[in-house]
Order: sequence, then structure tokens, then C-alpha cells
Amino acid sequence: MFLALLPAEHVLKCSLEQFLTRTDLTPLPSLGPCSVAACTRQAGVLKSMVCHAHNCRLVDAKRAIPDLDIDGWKAIQTPIPEGADVSFRGLTELVVAQLVYGIQQRCVDGARTTHHRLRRLTAWLRQHHVASLEDIDPLHAGANGIDRLTRGPLTTIVTFVRRAGLTPEIEYVKDCWDLTGFRSCGHHRLQRHLTALAQRDLQTLDPAHSAPAAGRKRRGQPPQAGE
Ligand SMILES: [Zn+2]
Repeated sequence: MFLALLPAEHVLKCSLEQFLTRTDLTPLPSLGPCSVAACTRQAGVLKSMVCHAHNCRLVDAKRAIPDLDIDGWKAIQTPIPEGADVSFRGLTELVVAQLVYGIQQRCVDGARTTHHRLRRLTAWLRQHHVASLEDIDPLHAGANGIDRLTRGPLTTIVTFVRRAGLTPEIEYVKDCWDLTGFRSCGHHRLQRHLTALAQRDLQTLDPAHSAPAAGRKRRGQPPQAGE
């Protein structure tokens, strides 16, 4: 810790020779972790309880905004970059689990998620206090400040997370199915679901609607003239 950052009572105004002869001195306790939620460093500034790098940012932020909400600022600050590390600190446990799962599934698909992209994504999630990736509409994330290149990984990760919770029972009641929800089904069970769906459609469709029209609706195609 820099002497200038220590309280006056902790500063010994003595020469180095005098200091080295003292036997009654003990090290000061650590200040503990930096109080910026995302930071992995040790605090180095007693007054703000943040690391030196974040203290520099804090000084600039307070200069720009004199009545800065410091606790809120600490909650959404990005960590100090360290090599290729990506900090998940400051995110909810659920979001961390969802990110790890989504990245894993991207790997399975052969997609690369760079640490630069992941840093931008985690910074955006932290800034928006996202409690679950399932709450995000990636199409609208762009309007909320996420850049175009980061929106791609976000979209696929959110899709993987949503699909992880799909079951045939959840999908069955919807008008438009995501067939990945039927992955756990054997062929015969899927066949039964499709048969049940066809019977449901026949029972609920307006008699004026034809079966081909229902089929097109399920495939997401526009109705033809007269349907
Ligand atoms: Zn820090």
C-alpha cells in the first residue's frame, strides 16, 4: 500500500535505519478483495476499498459526476483485464451457470467464443443487472447498447439455455414447435406427439380452414390467397 494512501497514524516518520531496528512492528492486515464486484484484485486504497486501478477510474468518475452513486458504480464496473481471463464476478449464480452451459454448447457446435467477446457480454449483463439469460430478448439487446458482434454469441447462448429447458409437454401446447424439445423422444414417441397434434388441430380448427393451411402455419409459411 502506498504511504500516501495510509492514515497518518500508520505512517512512521523515521529513517530506514531506525525502522530496521524496530522489533515491535507487525504488518498491517490486508484490506481484502477490491470492492468492485467484478474485480479479482486486492483492495489497495483504504478510503474507497478498491484496487489502485479501480481507484483511478473512481477518481475520474467522481470528477465527472460529483454525486456519483459509488455502490452502484462498483456493481457494474468492468474488471481490470488480466491476460485472457474473463471475470464472472458480479453476475448472478444462475447467469454464470447459463453462460458456462451456453459456451459449452457453442463449443460442441464448433463456434469459438473469444475472451474479448465474452468480456463485452459479461460487462453488458452486469450493467443491465440481468438475473437470468431467459429474460433477454437478443433482438432488443442491440437497442440497449450491446454491439453487433457481441449480439451473435448472446443470441446463440440464450437459445441454448432456453432449449435446455424444453420438453415435449411444454412445446406441445404451443402453436409453433421448437423440435429440439423432442430430442429426448424416441421416434415412436415423437410420432405419437405429431399424431396427437394433428388430432387437436382437426378438433379446433375453424371448419373453413383446410388441413393444408394448418400445415403451412406450423411450418411458418404465409397463408395462401383464400385461406
Ligand atoms: Zn479492482
